[in-house]
Amino acid sequence: MPELPEAETISRGLDVFLAGRTVARVTVLRPDVVANAGLRAAGRAGRKRCEEAAGVARSASGLAAAEGKRVRAVGRRGKNVVVLLDDEDRIVVNLGMTGRLLPSPGSRPPPSARHCAVFVHLEGGGAVAYDDVRRFGRLSYVPRRDWPAWSARLGPEPLAPSFTARRLQRILESSKSPVRSLLLDQRKIAGIGNIYAVESLWHAAVHPMRRANEFSARAAVRLHRCLRRVLREAIRAQGTTLRNYLTASGQPGGFGPALRAYGSVGNPCPRCAAAIERIVFGGRSAFLCPHCQALPPAADR
Ligand SMILES: [Zn+2]
Repeated sequence: MPELPEAETISRGLDVFLAGRTVARVTVLRPDVVANAGLRAAGRAGRKRCEEAAGVARSASGLAAAEGKRVRAVGRRGKNVVVLLDDEDRIVVNLGMTGRLLPSPGSRPPPSARHCAVFVHLEGGGAVAYDDVRRFGRLSYVPRRDWPAWSARLGPEPLAPSFTARRLQRILESSKSPVRSLLLDQRKIAGIGNIYAVESLWHAAVHPMRRANEFSARAAVRLHRCLRRVLREAIRAQGTTLRNYLTASGQPGGFGPALRAYGSVGNPCPRCAAAIERIVFGGRSAFLCPHCQALPPAADR
């Protein structure tokens, strides 16, 4: 599942390809990947109004609204790739489990886009395919006026200068959840998924089930440093490819060999040689070294 480093890598690659280009036509081959912003809001007001609102939203906030607009830049918010148009409306792409954004110099999807769900033609030639085998990804058209509210649903960006160790400490203090669950909560911190949560916790020598509000100030500083270092190194390596993820130039990410704990059950811990273990909680696997990442007695936390 693409996380912050993968979305960052894709957005950088797409920015080179798309900035300054004008959207000519958007072809939706699989409508279920296009989010309908009006649907959820209307859902509370009963089915009939929901259907009416859905109809309106489909025409007003569908991806076709991007046609004729120039792309100013491609960026990222959390795990989402954000295409900023010249009127400051945005196309937000949540890559879900298996979503990929693949540029093509021609007018047909590139050969790697075997499950093309949305195809964006550019004026003057070229196109971008949104490819998604499992179709858990979502493309949303977010008008300029809706962006602040959309963005505010997500927590702070962990690589932003304003994301200080003190800020992480306050977030940790606010929750009794296991720290891995807190790291995965996009409303608390944006962009972290299971791979980089597990890796950061291994580097920080913290058990994934340690309660967030039981961190000492020193442990919070250590986790802050490890989290940011792991994310930066993963971006430098262009992300991690476990199955489907490809960069915008169609290459797999190079961070796989740098994983220390994730998916390494039974392998020796690179720090102490104890066998890496897998545990499951919150419906997700976590990987840890039982020696380096032991839950400390309460007094030492
Ligand atoms: Zn160890």
